[in-house]
Amino acid sequence: MIRINDILDKITDFNPDADVDLIDRAYIYSAKVHDGQVRLSGEPYLSHPLEVAGLLADMRLDVVSVAAGLLHDVIEDTHATAEEIEEMFGPEVRHIVSGVTKLSTLPFSSAQAREAESIRKMLLAMADDIRVILIKLADRLHNMRTLQYHNSQAKQRKIAKETLDIYAPLASRLGMFTIKNELENIAFKYVLPEEYAKIDSLVAKGKSERDKYIESVKTLIQNKMAENNLPCEVLGRYKHYYSIYQKMMNQNLSFEEVYDIIAFRIILDTIPQCYEALGLIHALWRPIAKKFKDYIGMPKSNMYQSLHTTVIGPSGERVEIQIRTRQMDQVAKSGIAAHWSYKEGKSTDAKTAATFAWVQNIIENQANIKDPDEFLENVRIDLFPEDVYVFTPKGEIKTLPRGATPVDFAYAIHSEVGDQCVGARVNGRMVPLKYQLQSGESVAVITQKGHQPSKDWLNFVKTVKARSKIRAWIKTQEKERSIALGREMCEKAFRKVRMNFNELSKSPDMEKAVESFGFKSLEDLIIAVGYGKITPLHLVRKLMPKAEETTEEEQQTLINRLIGRVRKKKTGSGVTVKGVDDILVRFGKCCQPVPGDAITGYITRGFGVTVHRVGCINILKTNPERLIEVEWDATRRETFPVKIKIRALDRMGLLAEMAAAISKSGANILSANTQTHEDKMVSSFFTLEVGDTEQLNQVMALLKKIKSVIEVDRMS
Ligand code: MN
Repeated sequence: MIRINDILDKITDFNPDADVDLIDRAYIYSAKVHDGQVRLSGEPYLSHPLEVAGLLADMRLDVVSVAAGLLHDVIEDTHATAEEIEEMFGPEVRHIVSGVTKLSTLPFSSAQAREAESIRKMLLAMADDIRVILIKLADRLHNMRTLQYHNSQAKQRKIAKETLDIYAPLASRLGMFTIKNELENIAFKYVLPEEYAKIDSLVAKGKSERDKYIESVKTLIQNKMAENNLPCEVLGRYKHYYSIYQKMMNQNLSFEEVYDIIAFRIILDTIPQCYEALGLIHALWRPIAKKFKDYIGMPKSNMYQSLHTTVIGPSGERVEIQIRTRQMDQVAKSGIAAHWSYKEGKSTDAKTAATFAWVQNIIENQANIKDPDEFLENVRIDLFPEDVYVFTPKGEIKTLPRGATPVDFAYAIHSEVGDQCVGARVNGRMVPLKYQLQSGESVAVITQKGHQPSKDWLNFVKTVKARSKIRAWIKTQEKERSIALGREMCEKAFRKVRMNFNELSKSPDMEKAVESFGFKSLEDLIIAVGYGKITPLHLVRKLMPKAEETTEEEQQTLINRLIGRVRKKKTGSGVTVKGVDDILVRFGKCCQPVPGDAITGYITRGFGVTVHRVGCINILKTNPERLIEVEWDATRRETFPVKIKIRALDRMGLLAEMAAAISKSGANILSANTQTHEDKMVSSFFTLEVGDTEQLNQVMALLKKIKSVIEVDRMS
């Protein structure tokens, strides 16, 4: 149990001039009036106000708040009166203690009305004096910490539920994350005991290994910072069970799939050090795109500041890291209280006032609303600004992120409802599926049996659940299609070499082949063929008897057979494919090869061979197994398009001279395009028809000789 001296030490630590006499007197008075009372834990009742005062001292609140914390239950639970409090401790302490007392008496009977009324009261108290709420939160936190002593399970659940519904969101809105997390975590244990126990045992399972891991990552970070002379504190911690649970539920993940049950935090002295530390972390481990958030440059509305990043850690796993200054850490812990601080009598700064403005707004806008349901609905919108609240046809409330659509709503009800969703009615009116739902609307989803999700939905859905379900469906579809296509391609390829794919598919040779490609099953291999990741030819080679001993000629015959099915048109292309004289040949538009260029062929699926220049970027990116030797057919005289770029200083008659030079070499101009830049430079682009590289070089040489031409390049 905390002692009064511990509390006084905490206060004089950060405020040596504090008027601790007020606290001392409040302690003595509280001890006197609570004397003889005990908590359900069996401890003297005084332990409770002491713990609450300790929490307030941790928040670095002023002495008036701490004194009021020590006295927060005296009016309600003892013979003490408000007048007495004012007489002994002054009007400010009385005002706050009365405020806290008012919050605990709720006259309403229905749960909904109670909730509405308690939120309304809390908001009013908050607008009146924020310290009332801070004391109430500290009070609730200690009550939650000792909730196990309650004898009634129903009562425990009710208190825990209320904590999740009202107190945790309030703490979050006020930026008090430490308190919010602890409130949620304890409440979770009572509201969903089975889920809590499950996560608890899963976390415990790998704990010793994970603890070692935390230590090793911490050491790596510490060493890196020390090398660069950055003094810092590194913390590694398990995330709260409730946030793990929420992640599992919201993103539809199993425990094993929640990668970030551990988070690291680096605490430094100054803001520049934070950015330096971030740079060092990103140099040490590769950051994951889009996971970086700069809440230092752009603080959250509740004043939270920190750098967040997720990196690929030392063993290839994701590691979540927060980087912040000591002061930011204090703000993250105590939120608005950190800004209130111990500076007694001084008005709060502009930022704090702005954060307060929303409370004032709620009060002004809601004061006239008498219907508790309506009030609650409105206040929720303000308490959770990121969410919308909509109703099912049965009147059940669904919470969705702002911008969510009927498709998100449908998936929130059930995956099957989402998959089969064809339309929706909002407040009785038909709306498009991408309609953005507004709070208070009533939504009815129209489903059709056998209907399937659409890829387009991914463009507008907002919830992770909808997104992941639609993606999963697309993946299954693609997989099925790839199996069908891959199987067909394999069957055809095997038929060409007079082998039977289906017969062979059960043979031990096939098993070996599957293994040698690194696939788990033949189906996976077939899928890879369907996706075009490997060609059926690969597989044929593996299963051909004595494949290693096939001569070049035999291989060639095989290739001929394989690509033979695309011999549809006479070529007339001016290119021969090695060993095949009658195949559809096309030219890569990317590199426009011309006779004389070194070229290579690429076997496309179903469209013959595409010819590219050796070194063409598109060839470098492809599968080398599908490349085939090609050469220019010297017996044919054809012309080929080729694009050139000329850079020159602009002058009269330049274009005419360039055109004349091209014609002189006998090349045909297919198109011309000229761009004049501000600096008097001109870029001209010509598409010419040439017979070979020799002719092309000749044209280019002639162009270079023209006065004021600076550069002539062939484009690729
Ligand atoms: Mn209390």
